[in-house]
Amino acid sequence: MTDIYGLTLKKLADKLTELGEKPSRADIIFPAVYGELARSFDGLPLKQETLCTLAENFSFGGPECIEKLVSETADKYLFRLSDGNTIESVLMKHEFGYNVCVSTQVGCNMGCRFCASGRLKKVRDLTVSEMVGQLIHIRRDIGTRLGGISVMGIGEPLENLANVLDFIDIAQYPKGFDIGIKHITLSTCGLVPGIYKLADSSAPVNLAVSLHAPDDALRRTIMPSANKYALNDIIAAARYYSEKNNRRVTFEYVMLDGVNDSDECAARLAELISGLNCYVNIIRYNPTDGSPFSCSPHERIMSFYDILKKHGIGVTMRRELGASVNAACGQLRAASLGG
Ligand code: SAH
Repeated sequence: MTDIYGLTLKKLADKLTELGEKPSRADIIFPAVYGELARSFDGLPLKQETLCTLAENFSFGGPECIEKLVSETADKYLFRLSDGNTIESVLMKHEFGYNVCVSTQVGCNMGCRFCASGRLKKVRDLTVSEMVGQLIHIRRDIGTRLGGISVMGIGEPLENLANVLDFIDIAQYPKGFDIGIKHITLSTCGLVPGIYKLADSSAPVNLAVSLHAPDDALRRTIMPSANKYALNDIIAAARYYSEKNNRRVTFEYVMLDGVNDSDECAARLAELISGLNCYVNIIRYNPTDGSPFSCSPHERIMSFYDILKKHGIGVTMRRELGASVNAACGQLRAASLGG
């Protein structure tokens, strides 16, 4: 049995050919599976024989939802995978539409010291079906279309790039989720080779890079991946991404009280990224259980913001969605595992 949610349109067409069916049948199957969210092939306008072949060869997989936490601005879904592992997704309810934050790995090996995901080490990459399944379940649950996707749940997406690209391909299918690449944002902690690969891929989505510090020494104290990739190389990769795809890159910057939030940090950050087609997304730190960090006070954040502005840098501040549903990466999963 092949899990239908794991196949792009092209891969489904190839599989149909392999089974002796016309590849063009994929154009009938895909709208049913992703537009109508069918749970079986029953009723598709195909010959009985073809329907039998489909039923015999394809299953509808995807993870099982075992818990949902609801709040006014964000809902969190906890899923169990077929091997018993758990993952989570967050539905963010903006005024302008729904956005789903998907996970790409079980656990995460990046080890950022402020992040709850890293407390649970990576077990494995998610399959395409397990990523698509998060969207399928949430789409069914809310009964309305999704406006965008953030590939910034648990995991480092550039470590699982091949599967993430297939997932994005499926999410873009016009008669299905129909989410264009301009409405998909992928966040990485700065894996330089992966940034180049994504830049050259068929799906140059919005790129967000978790910077969180304006110099390598400070960055290394909070993000172990900084030992491998220097800021200058990350900035060069971001510049390539932006120029190649004519896109504005986002730099994420989480405000950690007394750690990375000084006026000097702001000025150095401005200098580091000046001249790039980019903006900084200032994120309020959402303290996680047992974390040694806390969020910078409001006045500090405003001062940091003002300095970036004065240097001509575009700045946004992420609205605090979902703090009450443990929406910071990995929090629900960690809580459910007693982590
Ligand atoms: N591995 C990817 C994507 C997952 S994290 C990455 O590192 O970018 C998505 C964003 O949330 C990152 O910028 C991450 O640093 C930030 N983040 C993690 N834990 C957080 C917390 N407790 N509060 C606020 N932001 C957090």
